[in-house]
Amino acid sequence: MPSISEERENRRNIEPVICYPVQFLPAADLDLYKKIRQNSHLKLQELWVPPRDARCFSVPKGGFFRISSVEGPQVGDLNLWNAHNLSERFYSGKTRALHGTHITSGQRMWSSFPYLRPIATIIEDTLDWYGIDPFGGSVHDVIGTRCDPYTNALLSGDQYHHCCHSNLTRALANFCDMSLQEAEDHVHDVLNVFMCTGFTRDTGQYFMKASPVRPGDYLEFFAEIDLIAGLSACPGGDCSAKHSTDASACFPLLVEVFEPAKGLADMGWKEPKPSAYDQTHGSFD
Ligand SMILES: [Zn+2]
Repeated sequence: MPSISEERENRRNIEPVICYPVQFLPAADLDLYKKIRQNSHLKLQELWVPPRDARCFSVPKGGFFRISSVEGPQVGDLNLWNAHNLSERFYSGKTRALHGTHITSGQRMWSSFPYLRPIATIIEDTLDWYGIDPFGGSVHDVIGTRCDPYTNALLSGDQYHHCCHSNLTRALANFCDMSLQEAEDHVHDVLNVFMCTGFTRDTGQYFMKASPVRPGDYLEFFAEIDLIAGLSACPGGDCSAKHSTDASACFPLLVEVFEPAKGLADMGWKEPKPSAYDQTHGSFD
């Protein structure tokens, strides 16, 4: 019979299995998206997100939006909503479960229950060379939440009003002409654009480190449905030291929105349908 320590070691050495094997998940056809992109020329909008602040913008389905680093290394916190129904929004936890802790080109941003469909697809990522570094860090995570004044008050006792949570709340309230309280209910866990993060191997704690992003880098998305997007230029700047403070060097982010490609349906793209689950939850058993 194995000793207790041998038995514990045996149990620790059991091989992991992937929770959500994605062989049944329709893969993004990047070649198709790149072909579609060539048929989208007109820039509908260009806006600068000021440092330590956020802006919202619309992207029509079939269109594209690009987030670029411009004046210096800066990370951004991105929220997405269905433009016709704010209760359908980006679901960072399920996106993480499906794709992993960080996402890049060819991967999707999935929406909340009961919809659970891809609402945006990353088609280009100039930081895709970064991979996973020796600390276990990578870029564009769906593991952080967003910096927020509640956690900051809990840990520091301070009142700080330019966390990404507050920036996104103000931006959505302005964009949709709603109260701050109403807007705050719609703000959700983000895609951390350009942020370099991971979990420490020894304690499992969430860490950040200086983002590898430099002016000229960008992340480009295809809008699978009509979207409202919110982007905050995080007070953490490149997140090399601190966030939830005005002490870090911060820079603006550039957003460009491009028109829906001509002849989308003919090129083989279809708007993703909401989940096929019937929502009866076993009540008729
Ligand atoms: Zn932030």
